[in-house]
Amino acid sequence: MRVTVNPGHCPGIDPGAMGPAGLREADVALAVGKLTAEYLRAAGCEVLLIQDDSLEKICSESNAFRADLFVSIHCNSHTSPAAHGCEFWTARNASMGAYRLASCLEKQFCATFPKLYNRGVKTGGLYVTLHTDCPACLVETAFISNPAEERLLADPVWQDECAKAIARGVTDAMQ
Ligand SMILES: [Zn+2]
Repeated sequence: MRVTVNPGHCPGIDPGAMGPAGLREADVALAVGKLTAEYLRAAGCEVLLIQDDSLEKICSESNAFRADLFVSIHCNSHTSPAAHGCEFWTARNASMGAYRLASCLEKQFCATFPKLYNRGVKTGGLYVTLHTDCPACLVETAFISNPAEERLLADPVWQDECAKAIARGVTDAMQ
């Protein structure tokens, strides 16, 4: 199986959202994405790990790689520091495979982080979910704008658990 892992945004070019303590989304996404790629490779997957400020390039490289599944890793952000929890986005025209991927990721996240509020599977017009040929899901791991969740996102142990949950969700979706 081939899997594209796309850490959101691009350090140095597009940092993404920033937490109140200065944590940058692009750095968290890269750390989690690298670990996710390692776990998926250990599980026997071929992995394309791609972080780039061009969404078009990410999609075209993933499609050229002929990925079977695509997962994008982000941190959520809101003007209210109280907003919290994880979300799993599929395309508005999502296939059954994309819903399956999103729900497998959701299940593993809930099992790994029982205290993290589950905002559920959502559908929308996010570019990478619309322009990839295979089932795709964008994971909003937690809110970087929430001080307590920013601390989680900065924690290497939490990042590792997060990567394991994503890798398990992806391999569950292949069954
Ligand atoms: Zn993002």
